[in-house]
Amino acid sequence: MRGCLIGRFQPFHNGHLQVVERISADVDELVIGIGSADASHTVKNPFTAGERLMMIRKTLEPYEITDYVVPIEDLNRNSVWVSHIQSMAPRFDVAYSNNPLVVRLFEEAEIEVRQTEMFNREDLKGSEIRDGIIEGEGWRECVPDAVAAVIDEIDGVSRLRQIG
Ligand code: ATP
Ligand code: MG
Repeated sequence: MRGCLIGRFQPFHNGHLQVVERISADVDELVIGIGSADASHTVKNPFTAGERLMMIRKTLEPYEITDYVVPIEDLNRNSVWVSHIQSMAPRFDVAYSNNPLVVRLFEEAEIEVRQTEMFNREDLKGSEIRDGIIEGEGWRECVPDAVAAVIDEIDGVSRLRQIG
């Protein structure tokens, strides 16, 4: 059984990790689609697909689950979004999301969708974490250590400050 989780992961944070841990109780393998893969170096999308892939790979390395991380470029055409994902990703049996649009699009494509819950959404939210990076506080404890290490390696703090 293979599941699918789509996100922008700007950056991959502890909420995403908790969802992955929850999903891994259900499925043997997980496809992780990196959305807006073509975007980078903006305040909303500071990190490249490759940088986000590295964050996910290094974080999930100690975990049991087999993951396939696939960059998905934006099409900006919702009606064909699911087939766009399918054209890039390994086959999957079930998609996980709590985004109403994503749920609707998978359902219309007759793919089973399972709703996920939010964990500590006040703090574990990409936009809050990016603000924290710019302000220089309160972000390291919201991301896995491996993600903080990648952000340090690529000089992500100074990138966000310069463009933010
Ligand atoms: P942004 O503020 O940039 O949109 P985000 O935290 O919403 O960041 P996304 O990459 O948009 O991160 O998230 C992808 C998916 O991960 C979301 O649709 C949501 O289902 C899930 N997710 C995000 N944050 C959490 C969280 N704190 N707990 C559980 N699931 C989460
Ligand atoms: Mg989001």
